Order: sequence, then C-alpha cells, then structure tokens
Amino acid sequence: MTKSSFVQVAIPVPLVGQLDYQWTKSGPPPSLGCRVRVPLGRREKIGIVTCHIDKPSLDPSRIREILETLDTEPVLNTELFDLLCWCAKYYHHPLGEVLTHALPTLLRQGRPAQSSEKFWELTKTGRALSSEDYLGKLQIRVIDLLRRCDQISAQELLDAGIKGSVLNRMAARGWAKYLEKPCQMKSVTKPIESPFELNVEQQNCVSAITDAAESYAAYLLQGVTGSGKTEVYMHLISNQLHFGRQSLLLVPEIGLTPQLLKRLENRFGTCLAVMHSGLTAAERLEAWRATRSGEAKIILGTRSAIFAPLVNAGLIIVDEEHDASYKQQDGFKYSARDLAVLRARGLNIPVLLASATPSLESIHNVTHGRYQELRMDDQIGLAGKPTIQIIDMNVHAERHGLSTPLITAIERHLSLDQQVLLFINRRGFAPVLLCTECGTVEECDQCDARMTLHARIGQLWCHHCGLTRSLTWGCSICATERIAVGAGTQRITDELQALFPEIKIARLDKDIASNKGSLESILADVTHGDTQIIVGTQMLAKGHDFPNVTLVGVLSADQGLFGTDFRCSEKLGQTLLQVAGRAGRRDQPGEVFIQSHYPSHPLLTTLVQQDYDAFGQLALKERKAAAWPPFSYLIVWRAEAINKKTAHAFLERIASTARNMTDSIKILGPAAPSMEKRGNRFRAQLLFQHNSRKTLHDLTSNMLLLVRDWPQARRIRWSIDVDPAEL
Ligand code: ADP
Ligand code: ZN
Repeated sequence: MTKSSFVQVAIPVPLVGQLDYQWTKSGPPPSLGCRVRVPLGRREKIGIVTCHIDKPSLDPSRIREILETLDTEPVLNTELFDLLCWCAKYYHHPLGEVLTHALPTLLRQGRPAQSSEKFWELTKTGRALSSEDYLGKLQIRVIDLLRRCDQISAQELLDAGIKGSVLNRMAARGWAKYLEKPCQMKSVTKPIESPFELNVEQQNCVSAITDAAESYAAYLLQGVTGSGKTEVYMHLISNQLHFGRQSLLLVPEIGLTPQLLKRLENRFGTCLAVMHSGLTAAERLEAWRATRSGEAKIILGTRSAIFAPLVNAGLIIVDEEHDASYKQQDGFKYSARDLAVLRARGLNIPVLLASATPSLESIHNVTHGRYQELRMDDQIGLAGKPTIQIIDMNVHAERHGLSTPLITAIERHLSLDQQVLLFINRRGFAPVLLCTECGTVEECDQCDARMTLHARIGQLWCHHCGLTRSLTWGCSICATERIAVGAGTQRITDELQALFPEIKIARLDKDIASNKGSLESILADVTHGDTQIIVGTQMLAKGHDFPNVTLVGVLSADQGLFGTDFRCSEKLGQTLLQVAGRAGRRDQPGEVFIQSHYPSHPLLTTLVQQDYDAFGQLALKERKAAAWPPFSYLIVWRAEAINKKTAHAFLERIASTARNMTDSIKILGPAAPSMEKRGNRFRAQLLFQHNSRKTLHDLTSNMLLLVRDWPQARRIRWSIDVDPAEL
C-alpha cells in the first residue's frame, strides 16, 4: 500500500477555507500552486494545492482522494502564489476564487499549462486490430479516427468526446501511444521603427529609473498629455529587453487605444503578449503561455494582466494610473494599480505609475516619500499650453447646451480647417422627458433613474438596468404633448449638424462603440481629417491622438461639482484636464471652453487659473478636513435585496454587532447609495472607517467569521469592498 499524504486544496467556490484531500498515488504529492482535480459533493472540481499537511483536521478515513494532478510544474509560482494569498486576506475574498482568478478560463477548465500538446497515434498492434477483437464502442471510434488522420491531438479527441482514460487504457494494452509536440510559435516580426532621441525631460525620467539600483522603487510620473510619456515607457522597456527581462505595461482599456499597440509592435516587433477581456479564451491562454515561457518580453494588458505569470520581470508600468477601471467592481474587488506596487516590491523591481492627472492617493504617497516624483511639463512640439476659459452659462444664451461664445469659437476654428472636439458626459438624445402640464417625468420602474430618450430609434432607455420602452410623446397621465429636456450626444450632434450642414460630424459614445468596427472607422475618418467635429463622452478622454484638434469644448462641468461621492471633485478635475489635453498642435496652441453655471466655484477656478498641482492640493485639503482617504482607510459592506428593509436590516445587524465589539472604528450607515433602487433591487451600504489599516482589517475579519454563519447572509446578495473606488 502506498503511503498517503495530505494536502489542502483551494477550490473556486464561495467558501472561505481550503479543503483537505489525500494523495494516494505513487510519487510525492503535487507541489503548491499545481492544479488538481478533486471530488466535491457529487461533482468534480479543479482546485489548486495550497498546503501540504501532516495531520488533517478530519478523521483520515473520511478524507477524499485527489483524482488527478494536472501539472508537473506549478501554474502559480511562489511569487504569484504569495501575492494572491495576500490578496485573499486583504480583500477578504475566498482564496479559491482569488487563485483561479489569476488563471485563464481554459486553465481553470483543465487545459494543459505547457505549450506542448499530446498527440496520439496507433501502434503497429493497434493498426492490426479488427472489430472482432471485442473492442468497446469508444475504442473502435478512436481507432477509426486515428486510422484516418495518423495523429490527433488529445484536445481534439477530447472535443470529440473521448476522454484521456479511454486512451490511457488503450496505451496500457499497447494499442496506442502518444508523443509530446511543442505548440506552434506565432511568427515573430521585426521592428520597423527606430526610437526617438529623447528630449531633456524624457531623458531625466529614463535616467532616474535606470540609474537607480535594480531593486524595488516606486515612481510617479506626472506628465501632461503629449509630453512623451509613451516614448519614456518604450525606452525603459527597451533597456529591459537588453537584459532579456520582461516588462509589464498596464493600460485602462486596450480597445480604445489601438494606437498604442501599433506603436509597440512597430518599435519592438512581436515579442509582445496582449491580455484583455476582448480576447477569445484560446488567445488568452496563448498570451499566458507566452508570458510564462518567457517568449513574450512585453506584456500589455488591462487590469487583470497584473496577474500575468511573469518569469523574469524587470519593470512594471501603470499608464493613466488615476483611471477608475483599475479597480475591479464586482466579485474579487482588487485594485490593479495598488497591486502593481505590491508586486514590484515582491519582485524587487521598479514600478512606474504615470498620468497627466495622478490620483490624490499617489500624490499623497509622493508627499510622504513612498513614491519618487518625476515630471514632464511640456508638450512635445506644440506651440504652447492651451488656454482654458470658463463660460458662464447664467449670462450667455444657449441652444440645447451650446452657448453663443462656444458656437462662435466653433465657427472660427472650422473656417481655418481645424478640428473641434466636444465633450458631454451623457449619451442618447435627452436625459429627461417632461410633461410641462402635470410635471411628470418619465422614470424607470426598476431603478431610481430617469429614462433617457433615444429619439432616432423612438425608444426610452434606462442606462442603469437596460429597460427599454417605446417612445410616446403624449403624457400617460394628462395626454399633453411632452418635451425633451437637456441634451445628450445625439441631440448635440443633431443641433450642430443643423448649424453646420456642410460639416462632417462624428459621435463617439458607448452606443456607437458597441457596433463592431464602427469605432475604428470613425477614428480613421477623424485622423484623415474628413470629420471636423467630434462629439463624445468619457471615451474622448482616453488616449486617442487627434492631431488637428485646436478647440475643445466641455458642455457642462457642473455634474461633477456637487456629487455625493468623496471622489467627485477629483474625477471632475481629471476628466476636464484629460479632455483639455486633446487641444493644440505644432503651429497653434489649443483653446478650451468649459461651460458652467458655477463659474466661480473654487475647484473650477483653481484648475483653470492655476494647474493640476494646485487643484490636487485643494482637493486633498477637502479630503483631509472630512477625514476621507488617503487620510483614513475605508471598507464598505454592500447589500442588495428585493425588499428595502431586508438589505438595511442585514447591514444594521453588522453595524450593531461591530459597535459592540469595538468603539474605536467609525461606522457610517447603513445608508442608501446615490442610486438606491437599481434593476428592481434596493441597495444599501455600510462604511467602516479608521486611520489604521490593521484595526480596520482585524475587525472586518472578525465580523466576517460571524456574518458568514448568519442564515440572513444566505438570503441576500452582499459583498465587501476594500478601498472602494465609488460610494
Ligand atoms: P504621452 O504618452 O505623454 O501623451 P506620447 O509619448 O504619445 O505622449 O508623445 C506625443 C507625441 O510626441 C507622439 O506623437 C510621439 O511620437 C512624439 N514624441 C515623443 N517623444 C518624442 C521625441 N523625443 N522627439 C520627437 N517626438 C517625440
Ligand atoms: Zn432601470
């Protein structure tokens, strides 16, 4: 009898602990970080070995056996494994889900991690067999298939419904055998573009990072849009390539920045792995394997690429580090930006966070000496900084959101054959459908939200739950003809088209981008100059290079001024400057117009009359006064239920239990978030706030131990959000 050993396995189920299993097969038990197939209830699951144990917690006779080990080498090496274990603790998320989150879907389903594949073929004996040799149905099929094709990959056989066990039995009888073949490597192309000679600011940045010892250090590069940050990344990456080391470059969204990918390919050829959610499962696995084998030297990806299986990492870069999309909003709610710093420390390599408008957290970290500050204040080859002015909407006439001074400026720039970019934070035709007779506004039944008018397709949409209704102009209560109030991208586009019938206008928003291919063709028209006016949402602020834009208009700055979220003003400042950064070209400085009903609001005037630094300091002062992060730490408990009382009662119980456990932590709520009802569910949130991370996390862990046993907790949806990006 073989001696059995016991291991703990983390399985991707919402279960906190790991389960014990025993290894009874020959050889030592699988190492930490290897995938194993195990029984769970009446099903089989793929989990990851987290621990070897001497004494199991249960009677050994009741411990089930590992069915199969899928890896000879761990899929998660020690460095990544440790990082993920830390994540599970810090984000209070089940370890099994965290570990598997770091793997491509196909690996979660059991595909081989190595980029070599098993190919099956028949032996001489196998080929000589006839059906009279009393073979089973499946075996006859295998023989049929293999006679026709000589060799077939194990995966293809599996897809045809033939399991490994059938083939192994045939191999044992000497009828079939397999050979391992490396996967086809993708063809590698050569670079076609040589680097720029760096200017002084760029050279200073590159030297600061390269000259430092090759060990952990965190840098915050504050460089205005167009100051040549990407060029700095490429030089740093190139230095790493020289030593054969990998660089990880994180960006907020790849779909919106095809230009960056192109630039990297032109500069470095294709030793590049791309990781983002738009890929197929097979492409993701390919990128993962290329990273782990070390074949890929540059890894370009969005949020989840922070878990890329780096093998010889030299550098991590986080572009647009302020961007909220680095924070995962559901499930395992990690911050890829924060983890980049942590991972770099674990790997003992430098990490570069960069943005034109850094987050207040990062600025705060510079102040406290945790990050080293680097600056690039000049736009490359531009005639000068854009001028920014605020248009007081209380004194100027407007036409559906377009003020007279803005219209005049648009005319002026168009007459010079220049491009105009207009930013509005709202898609659709109009956000409100109002009956002026009885005052009724068309609302969503499932959310605390108004229905947005999409006039062209004759529909009303809820932008929060997706509910649609067909549009009727007559009021359902008093039958009066209703009116559309306010403007979204569609209405602004229509309005401009009426004002400038000869001009080609493009609209850029989520509705457009969801049609495959249309985004690319719109961007191409803009680049070629066919399109002269671009009207768009947030998407405009993200990374596009519009070379001939000299006028930028922000149709309303007001939404961001009075929000309830403590990050509102920070976001406003970032959006305004990111959009403003699109203005200007070599021969002509840009002009930026910001429309507002509150032109003397201190946040706006600081931003416009001074700069982002002054704005950041002002916003940080506000945060400090209210003791919001980064001057404290936050953990949010969120709950949602069909019934409003149920959600509140659950959080109320957490609040009172926590208050009984400690009085040192500030507990706020439960309260309703800014949109309480969404998709027919009532939402509520409870905040834990403290200036010691440890105190906050200890209480949360203790609370979780209790809460998970409450029957209540099984009846509603709830979650914990550490360092929330939004309240
Ligand atoms: P950012 O990433 O800061 O917005 P980019 O790196 O995209 O800026 O640079 C802006 C433009 O300037 C790009 O078109 C780039 O090719 C060009 N550029 C960057 N560095 C240099 C340089 N040293 N010399 C000449 N052109 C440069
Ligand atoms: Zn809705």
